[in-house]
Amino acid sequence: MQLFMMKIMRSAFLKNAALGLLTTGLLAACGGGAQSDGDVWSVGTEPGFPPFESITNEGEFEGFDIDLMRAIGEKAGKTIEFENLPFDSLIPALQGGSIDAAISGMTITEEREATVDFSDPYFKAGLAIAVEKGNTEIKTLDDLEGKKIAAQIGTTGADTANSVPGATVSTFDSAPLALQELANGNVDAVVNDAPATLDAIATGNIPGVEVVGELLTEESYGIALPADSENVAAVNAALAELKTDGTYAEIYKKWFGVEPPAQ
Ligand code: GLN
Repeated sequence: MQLFMMKIMRSAFLKNAALGLLTTGLLAACGGGAQSDGDVWSVGTEPGFPPFESITNEGEFEGFDIDLMRAIGEKAGKTIEFENLPFDSLIPALQGGSIDAAISGMTITEEREATVDFSDPYFKAGLAIAVEKGNTEIKTLDDLEGKKIAAQIGTTGADTANSVPGATVSTFDSAPLALQELANGNVDAVVNDAPATLDAIATGNIPGVEVVGELLTEESYGIALPADSENVAAVNAALAELKTDGTYAEIYKKWFGVEPPAQ
């Protein structure tokens, strides 16, 4: 009889312990993912894109997008936790539900809108061609025919480069790496977002490189959210508030040194 009771107790104990472990495991698994906690938004970004997003020597995220997203979180009553992801995994991560949003200088495109939702536009950008300083041969996209072009993988810059007939396109994980390839003399040009290229040149990180001609495209950045996310409205409301209360202008001035253009 005693033995029998002990067996039951033991099995009950094991069962509880197992359940306990399972719950802890489940909680831990949820803790790393999205929608785990209504007060936290897990936001993906590829922090190799200054002045929009980068990582300081201390390992902190910083940039225009980072400040803007934190301010949006404040208005929406959410804590923002940034997650460092490759640019071309941001949309898959949104689709898979492992992040709640992505802010990464991401252009609102029809192709992307087919799989994710975007906030209202928050920044006007466009693609520019960068070449070696003093190159007088390349002025337009047509001049890139048959040339070697570097771009960042999964970007509108890479798409545009790939549309040039006869061009050889090499893709890199980040825009600075593509620009470095140009500085090293391995390619004839880089097609990349103008503000990011201009920043890389201005900070002296990419010597001997200049931007040519007119912008190739006019693009708008948006915050990407999973398709049909219930948070789109809250993000847009926060963004609108930040524009009217001056916070947006303040963040813009901090990172670009000038007043934002009229919307
Ligand atoms: N705006 C470009 C795009 O969306 C590049 C973004 C980036 O490199 N972070 O494709």
